[in-house]
Amino acid sequence: MNEHTLQKNIQQTIKHAKKLLSTTNIVFVIYNQNTSEVVFTSDTNTTPHNLPEAKEIIDTKIHETDTDVYVTLPISCNIPQHYGILWAQIPITQYTQRDNAILQMVGEQITLWLQDIKNPILNIDLSEQLLTISESISELEQSSNDDPQYIVDHIGTTIQKLGWESIRVIQYDKDQENIAEYAANAPIPPLPQKRALKPFLDNAVAIETAYFVYVEDTPTILIPVKTSSDEIVATIELQHHNIVEPPLARQLRPIMLLANHYGNLVDRLLLIRSLRQTANLLVEQVDELEFIRKADREISSRLDPSRIIMFCLDWALRRTAAEAGCIVVIDTDSKDLLVQEILGYPPDKIELLNQQKYKGVIGRAIKQKQTQLVEDVTQDEDYIMILPKTQTQLVVPLLSHKRTLGAIMLESRVEGRFDPAAVSFVERVSSISSIALDNAQLLQQAEQLADDMSLMYNAGRTISSSLEWDNTIESIAQGMALAVTGSNALIYEFKSQSQIARLLSRYTTNKSTNTQMMPSLGSTLNINQYPNIKTAIENGNLLVINSDSPESPEQSWLNGLESDTAAIAPLIAQGTCVGLAILVKAQANAEFANSEIFVAESLATQAAAVLRQASLYTEVQELEVLKSEMIRMASHDLRAPIANIIGYMNLIRFDLEDMGQDNEDMQMYMDSIDRSVKSMQALVEDLLTLEKIESQRNAEWEIIEFDTLVTNIFEEQTDAAKLKKQNFTLSLPKNSVRIRGIDIQIKQAISNLIGNGIKYTPEHGRVELKVEKEKDEGGRQDRIYFRVIDNGYGIDENRQKRIFQRFYRAKQPGTEHITGTGLGLSLVKSIIERHNGEIYFESEVGKGSTFTFWLPLPNDIN
Ligand code: ADP
Repeated sequence: MNEHTLQKNIQQTIKHAKKLLSTTNIVFVIYNQNTSEVVFTSDTNTTPHNLPEAKEIIDTKIHETDTDVYVTLPISCNIPQHYGILWAQIPITQYTQRDNAILQMVGEQITLWLQDIKNPILNIDLSEQLLTISESISELEQSSNDDPQYIVDHIGTTIQKLGWESIRVIQYDKDQENIAEYAANAPIPPLPQKRALKPFLDNAVAIETAYFVYVEDTPTILIPVKTSSDEIVATIELQHHNIVEPPLARQLRPIMLLANHYGNLVDRLLLIRSLRQTANLLVEQVDELEFIRKADREISSRLDPSRIIMFCLDWALRRTAAEAGCIVVIDTDSKDLLVQEILGYPPDKIELLNQQKYKGVIGRAIKQKQTQLVEDVTQDEDYIMILPKTQTQLVVPLLSHKRTLGAIMLESRVEGRFDPAAVSFVERVSSISSIALDNAQLLQQAEQLADDMSLMYNAGRTISSSLEWDNTIESIAQGMALAVTGSNALIYEFKSQSQIARLLSRYTTNKSTNTQMMPSLGSTLNINQYPNIKTAIENGNLLVINSDSPESPEQSWLNGLESDTAAIAPLIAQGTCVGLAILVKAQANAEFANSEIFVAESLATQAAAVLRQASLYTEVQELEVLKSEMIRMASHDLRAPIANIIGYMNLIRFDLEDMGQDNEDMQMYMDSIDRSVKSMQALVEDLLTLEKIESQRNAEWEIIEFDTLVTNIFEEQTDAAKLKKQNFTLSLPKNSVRIRGIDIQIKQAISNLIGNGIKYTPEHGRVELKVEKEKDEGGRQDRIYFRVIDNGYGIDENRQKRIFQRFYRAKQPGTEHITGTGLGLSLVKSIIERHNGEIYFESEVGKGSTFTFWLPLPNDIN
């Protein structure tokens, strides 16, 4: 469009408007703001009354007089310092709101024509511009260069190609700092800082995503470049001498398009960068996880802390790339700070490290229990130089449950070596080292405890293994003295009626210095004189006396033993105090550790129970002796009179025969007396045997040739079987067999069973003895089986289950005439069971019985 057509078009439009508005006074003028000279007018006959000032031309102005309404509309003409206005004078009677809209439309129309002619920059063929932009964008995207400077340069030159004169592109980082800038041609005065942009833009004319602003009085197009999250990452500022008024959105579209792409690109690059960072972080984390996994495995597989600590230090150095480092540990006993491991220091520096102790940055980290990062060692007054060129030092304390165990120290010549990621890694390494150290210390404690426990267990076992009163007391004393280091044990028996404690046993450890001072056995304490002990007995509590205790009779008594520390445990069994266990520390000013008190208390409880058991055992034993004695006496005393009776009975028989008085009746009476007396005799004999065997309960076991033993008994009993004309046989295994046991008892058991077989089998019957060895495949011990098989009377099923009871006699019809005591089988059963064997039988009335027992066959003697 040339100027002529423009003029024609404008005039045509205004003519239309005049018609519509019923006025003749409508004019469009372009004037110089400085000189007020009109450079263009649509109507030479009409001149606006007042030309507006530059600052007034942004808005439509409506001014009313009594007769007319004056409307002034600003029109952008894009010539510097020149303004266009559309001015109308409308009689007030004709004026309606609609007139404004019509004038607005006319104004826009004129603007469009003007832009076309006056704004060559905005008038480049859109498609051409789009081509330039898309080429530029695809170039940017294909290039893998994500350097911000490269990007702003690229964007800047593209914009230049679009025809802009002054260009400034600034890219910001997320902290709003400028990271890259492109400026071309006449530099645009600097924009406010990014963070001040917002209020600045609030006062600008927004044209979609762009703004029209005056930067130091120069009309400027400002385009904020935004990411998808609406964050401004760059700004594009543009000027062109042709742009003097806010352009239309469509005219800025190509540049807005570019800005939009630019935003997307930065967005994507940021994303890629953060992904890359995440990926790097992940690699680091995988690395660290690997370290932690290895460290964990080390910790759980070995409890030697030095290896794990070395491992941790090695990782800390590798990961941070520090040149040297060490781990210092606080010694649990001396509380000294000792260098445990070093890496990277020349040998002559080790001494220096050791001398640091609690001084230096290490000391500070330990005292404050906090990581100390010294960026510049020359600025830290605590710093102690080890390596001359060190620039930065990092010390992380080793903490476990708020306890400080030591510290890990790293140093480097490289400034900024310990970045936050490195510091946090070393902190993690430190926590792993702490666990290792803590574990090691715990292990030490656990081992100590295990020692205590095993001592206690052993002591407890000694105590329970003995059932003798004296031995028990002895063991208690020994066990307690050994369980508690550096102490002597005194065991008193205590009688509550008399309140007298009598020393039964004392055990002095070798280390003790005051052995001679220990009270002598049998010496007594009158508890009435020791109120604290008395209270302890009454309450069943352990009493501890030490150098801090107030003065007391107990304390003076202890001083007499050249000690001032003792633990006194009342031995309480079933609610009564049966004794006192007193542990006296051999050295003055000694103390009982909690664990020692615990051990002493446990032993005292065990001891009390055993003491009571021992005393019960003694009582039972005494009763047992009394019982045996009584049985022995009774049986013995009966034996003689019975023998007497039998003797006299025989005499009477002879006399009766002599006198010819042995008639049938008399014979029957005599037989009856004879049977009764014989039964009494058998009972007495059985009782004596039983007694004899029971009293041998604790006799030593010996090796018995089992087959020989059976053969002997078989031979002994052959006469009895012959008397009954029985078929009496014995079968033995090929090789001889040995068992362990008490010879006389086994003999008794075998005789009883054979005797019963003969006794309960009628004449002409069969009694068969069998000895069989049974080898066991199932890993069980081999056994020897002994069987008595008879075809005698048998036992009624109802009576079977009682035959092993003492004095039980299964009176089978037909066996009434057989005498017995009912003690035999009960004795056999108890003997066999005492020899770890088993007895059982099968029987059927009228068919016979089989009695079997087995005994273990020890491999070592067979
Ligand atoms: P006794 O002195 O009566 O023999 P035992 O204890 O030896 O006492 O046996 C208990 C009872 O078991 C006997 O009275 C008898 O009735 C029955 N008995 C024992 N062995 C046999 C056997 N081989 N055959 C039948 N009955 C038996």
